[in-house]
Amino acid sequence: MAARNDIPYKIYLEENEMPQAWYNVRADMKNKPAPLLNPGTLQPMTAQELEGVFCADLVQQELDNTTAYIPIPQEIRDFYKMYRPSPLVRAYCLEEKLKTPAKIYYKFEGNNTSGSHKLNSAIAQAYYAKKQGLKGVTTETGAGQWGTALSMACAYLDLDCQVYMVKVSYEQKPFRREVMRTYGASVTPSPSNTTNVGRKILADHPGTTGSLGCAISEAVEAATSQEGYRYVLGSVLNQVLLHQSVIGLETKAALDKYNIKPDIIIGCAGGGSNVGGLISPFVGEMLRGEADYRIIAVEPASCPSLTRGKFAYDFCDTGMVCPLAKMYTLGSNFIPSANHAGGLRYHGMSPVVSQLYHDGIIEATSVEQTKVFEAAEYFARVEGILPAPESSHAIRVAIDEAVKCRETGEEKTIVFGLTGTGYFDMVAYEKFNNGEMSDYIPTDEDLARSFATLPKVEK
Ligand SMILES: *Cc1c(COP(=O)(O)O)cnc(C)c1O
Repeated sequence: MAARNDIPYKIYLEENEMPQAWYNVRADMKNKPAPLLNPGTLQPMTAQELEGVFCADLVQQELDNTTAYIPIPQEIRDFYKMYRPSPLVRAYCLEEKLKTPAKIYYKFEGNNTSGSHKLNSAIAQAYYAKKQGLKGVTTETGAGQWGTALSMACAYLDLDCQVYMVKVSYEQKPFRREVMRTYGASVTPSPSNTTNVGRKILADHPGTTGSLGCAISEAVEAATSQEGYRYVLGSVLNQVLLHQSVIGLETKAALDKYNIKPDIIIGCAGGGSNVGGLISPFVGEMLRGEADYRIIAVEPASCPSLTRGKFAYDFCDTGMVCPLAKMYTLGSNFIPSANHAGGLRYHGMSPVVSQLYHDGIIEATSVEQTKVFEAAEYFARVEGILPAPESSHAIRVAIDEAVKCRETGEEKTIVFGLTGTGYFDMVAYEKFNNGEMSDYIPTDEDLARSFATLPKVEK
């Protein structure tokens, strides 16, 4: 077993070693992610069409498949300095407990009040909205991490922030809601009667507790029906992966500083932004033929878009107002069973991550909720950090891979993304501690039913 002073417990970069540009992995992809399509004409969305919904600079980033490095504006780098670099931690205690010869590292993104990596993109999106002279932004939030991150960023830049929060979370997570309000956001439970699409959903499905797809439709309508507002999204989009590349760039710089070469890189996958950002620089090396890694995206067995979904054009929202994206999807009508990893319940997956998976550059696997919480609890007791349920999907697979190394005696280096903390997820932990948590895996028939509603697009 390695002496603990070989490598610092926590590797921090110096301020002058922090990334000055985001890395756009699309520039190195031979097969580019498919373009977003206009839901009416089924033609690729033009910049002009997208600018009705998104900020202009972000539209450029969304459509840019060729520029490898996009400078991070100084204002955003200054904000990053408040909570970045995030540490790359050598999990010595976990290694010892597992008696594994593997070396385990995790990149910890939970060191800011929002509790997750989402702040990396929230500040970027809020910055471009401010730069464009907008009054505010609208968005949806499921579990609440994205809404919290965005409200922090908007408070810093003095922008109005309107959050549509999936009703079930609004009711179950009152403290999340209050954090957002403390940062000045207005929070509306979705579906609501403040939008046409919300009123229609309420009329069609009285008593519904909402879904992410439905909250997205409401937030888009709110943005397009108010002067000086645009819609922002916390995952899935190319621009979000671009901003999240800061995670991977820092990880790579920290590893390079100590000449560490990872064998396996693991991230949890909801909409694909943290895993996409973490792996981007490593995937870039693979695509350029400079290095090889095993990369694993981990999703919940209850919402298995990569491992059981179809690679097809689909709606991003329930109200079908958003552009269509080509991605691994379970169908926009798919309603996952109550899975406590709220951040992993989206029916689709980032087009970039989808394409990389389709091309065999990355792997995917799914894990069941009870196994995830076992890993979460084990990790909390050994490494001290109380992980978010989403992040614990990556912990599960990292532990499993480290145990395999124990059996084979291989000294692999494993890096995983620890995306956030779980302080607002104690109801889920309570269920687990009480032995009341169960696993629901959708049947093939469940999936066939939602696949049947995929739009027919000849592409
Ligand atoms: C939102 C969230 C995720 C999943 O989102 P991605 O876009 O797939 O990264 C994972 N972990 C935490 C803590 C989150 O808040």
